[in-house]
Amino acid sequence: MFTFARKNINKIILSASVPTIIGIFLYNDKKNIFAHQEIINEKPIVIVGGGIMGSSIAASIASKGGQVILIDESHNVRSSWGDTRGLQNGYTGIYGKLVKRSKRLWEKLQLEDDNNSNLNHGRGRLFFQSSNMLILPSKEEAIKVKNEHIANGHGTNINLFNKEQAETAFSAVKFEKNEVGFVDYNCLAINAPECLNAMQDKAETHGAIINLSERVEKINTSKCELLTNNNNRILYSKLILASGPWTNRTLKSCNLSQLPIFVSAEQLLYLEPKKNNNIKKNSNNCYSISKMPVIDGEITNVTADGMAKKSFVYCFPMVPGGKKAFKCAVHCMGEFYTSDFHVVPGSSPLNFIDPTVYHRKTLNTRQPNVDEIDNYQKAIVTSFVKTHLPTLNFETPKMICRCLYTSAIDLDFIIGPHPEDKNVIICTGFRGEGFKFAPVIGDCVSEIVLSSSLPKNIDNNSSRYDDDDAEELKVLTEELLKKFSPARFFYKE
Ligand SMILES: Cc1cc2nc3c(=O)[nH]c(=O)nc-3n(C[C@H](O)[C@H](O)[C@H](O)COP(=O)(O)OP(=O)(O)OC[C@H]3O[C@@H](n4cnc5c(N)ncnc54)[C@H](O)[C@@H]3O)c2cc1C
Repeated sequence: MFTFARKNINKIILSASVPTIIGIFLYNDKKNIFAHQEIINEKPIVIVGGGIMGSSIAASIASKGGQVILIDESHNVRSSWGDTRGLQNGYTGIYGKLVKRSKRLWEKLQLEDDNNSNLNHGRGRLFFQSSNMLILPSKEEAIKVKNEHIANGHGTNINLFNKEQAETAFSAVKFEKNEVGFVDYNCLAINAPECLNAMQDKAETHGAIINLSERVEKINTSKCELLTNNNNRILYSKLILASGPWTNRTLKSCNLSQLPIFVSAEQLLYLEPKKNNNIKKNSNNCYSISKMPVIDGEITNVTADGMAKKSFVYCFPMVPGGKKAFKCAVHCMGEFYTSDFHVVPGSSPLNFIDPTVYHRKTLNTRQPNVDEIDNYQKAIVTSFVKTHLPTLNFETPKMICRCLYTSAIDLDFIIGPHPEDKNVIICTGFRGEGFKFAPVIGDCVSEIVLSSSLPKNIDNNSSRYDDDDAEELKVLTEELLKKFSPARFFYKE
């Protein structure tokens, strides 16, 4: 895969006239740049942040003929790192519409990828069909969830399992007496690193320039110019901030108002099957994604102030090419970070977090190391696994690592132009949900930036997409902007 650094831009000669700057700056051997010589008169769209969001946006803009540069410092605890992500269905409202379109786009990317790749296992590298099982405390709850799923148009391939049925169907799973499992067979297990690669490959194939080893340090929004830590100066037409947990740091370097977001350090435990468990011997790997559903289990957690609160533990089976261990974690239970990098300076996340979702009140002033253990989260996950997946070795995890969630105070995504500068587009706040939505968010953000900036001579009707699809995307983008615009934090109705 090419990156800016690897592309060894021969030399950057800065001169007075903008078009020449762009021309010289982009001087490298990327054929397709010169094929669109006339495009160079337009300054490129620059994306700060190459996690799954920045990479999906770059792929979408480039594949529609837009000129795009992606810059990423590849932070090791970013949100997109790790081996697997799940795509579950049960979303409502705009999230329901987005997940449906995103699933189609993932499948389209898989097809494109299949055609390019000569992988020998005959299956795509990007994701695996998977099922998702929600373990619920009672039959009533399970029926309620089933009806909601059907009402939201996700009702095609679902089923309920009582204790006996579940333990027969999935030999590694144990249920408590009255528990019922709700299984949706229509999910995807996403191979996260391969999807990130595929998005960056797609972007580069369509002419994007990708640099995964530089940090954007200064941004002069009045000159539409940014400076990296290697003193690379870049002029931009539009700037997209897909900087995840570091969005407020990047906004600070833009001199734009920061956003009421907070960052929590979630923890993943990788658990291997116990050596001497009988299951392993007599069934061929009942721990793999082809045999086991992704498990979401509802737990009741007693908080420091003695309140009983609901939360979710999720356990991800093994995937081909993955870590040969179950990935287990509890949702929204990480410590909150109070560094300026993350929250609005002077404000504490505790002032505005939603205690029904985040009921842990631990603050941390420094960023965690990627392998720093949090015993609080570990204890919750261990107790769940002890009950529901007792053949896993929960005493000595194979690996423990951290990964960051970025959340807005209202827990909705943040996507759209910054109210103080319409050339700066924000794309953040994806909590522990965003990966599955990346392709459709990439499409909507490219719709936002391209509809105004694509040079006239690019015929964008025929190539981009057929009319119905174009219309669907246009309507979805308008709805997304209405719901997720960062302006909602600045202008009260
Ligand atoms: C433990 C965990 C489990 C999850 N499980 C799921 C799941 O099952 N399904 C699902 O759909 N989602 C899941 N998610 C959520 C999903 O992974 C995130 O929502 C998504 O990865 C967010 O991607 P991003 O690109 O916005 O952020 P990031 O991946 O954090 O990318 C931001 C990038 O910006 C770069 N950056 C920041 N500042 C600068 C700068 N100044 N210059 C250059 N680069 C910069 C950083 O280095 C980083 O690479 C999970 C998340 C976690 C943490």
